[in-house]
Amino acid sequence: MLPLNIVVCVKQVANPDYFSQITLDPETGAIQREKVPSILNPMDENALEEALKLRDKYSGKVTVISMGPPQAREVLEWSLTLGADEAILLCDRAFAAGDTLATAHVLAAGIREICPCDIIFCGNEAADGATQQVGPQIAELLGFPHITNVNELVVREDKTAVVKRIIEYGYLKIEVQLPVLIAVSREINQPRAATAEGILTLGDKVFKTWTLNEIKVNPKDIGLEGSPTRVSGVFEQKNERRREVLQGALEDMVNTAIEELRQEELV
Ligand SMILES: Cc1cc2nc3c(=O)[nH]c(=O)nc-3n(C[C@H](O)[C@H](O)[C@H](O)COP(=O)(O)OP(=O)(O)OC[C@H]3O[C@@H](n4cnc5c(N)ncnc54)[C@H](O)[C@@H]3O)c2cc1C
Repeated sequence: MLPLNIVVCVKQVANPDYFSQITLDPETGAIQREKVPSILNPMDENALEEALKLRDKYSGKVTVISMGPPQAREVLEWSLTLGADEAILLCDRAFAAGDTLATAHVLAAGIREICPCDIIFCGNEAADGATQQVGPQIAELLGFPHITNVNELVVREDKTAVVKRIIEYGYLKIEVQLPVLIAVSREINQPRAATAEGILTLGDKVFKTWTLNEIKVNPKDIGLEGSPTRVSGVFEQKNERRREVLQGALEDMVNTAIEELRQEELV
């Protein structure tokens, strides 16, 4: 029954270590990510690792796919360096300004071009947007079952899988028939490090860039027009600290503190 055709969705995100340096455009409210370095979304590293382990065990192919601007090529190349076989960048101005559903429409259309596939891996959430919506939305659009927050996966030779899904007070054990979309947590594995061989063979790997012309998606479902949700406002959270030292009798200090907190509507 095997080999496996596996797809991994990878997103380029701003490095969380630099989140405090992300600023907002004062006029448009747009997030200015350009000033901070970008990385492969951490959970997508785990998704890729799980895909590579299965490919190494059963043979087959791992294709990494990303929707993003031209610089998203970097995370795809990094994924190829780590061991993925092929990469697809979905890149077109028509894809820009989309919400999660519009993003999922583009990714699902890209994946449809390389189907049939056995497993689609996603991270459980992107470090920046963190809606956890894109994976399940892709699955719905493709008619795949999906399991999120997965921290253990065993794929059997008969193309069934046993999955452990973390829940609040334990885990669920789920048996599923492939094809399936799996969204993984950080606990599922320890991603491998890049090797010299991976770096040296990068140039031999297949890298495709697809625009709107190469995928079958309704232009009404993508970009701003295809986005049923809108950001109605964004604000920067400012932590303004005020320090006040009270003096006098203990009871007076307590009463003063309570009164001041009341005035600030904090109690
Ligand atoms: C209301 C709203 C409006 C938005 N408007 C804009 C906008 O105007 N311009 C703009 O640039 N962004 C916009 N976004 C952000 C954009 O929709 C998200 O960056 C994108 O849809 C991914 O969502 P997320 O970060 O929450 O991913 P999650 O759903 O948390 O990601 C889960 C997993 O899905 C996969 N994944 C997610 N995104 C991608 C991707 N692009 N490529 C490959 N795999 C992916 C990864 O495996 C990831 O680990 C908007 C988001 C919302 C909610």
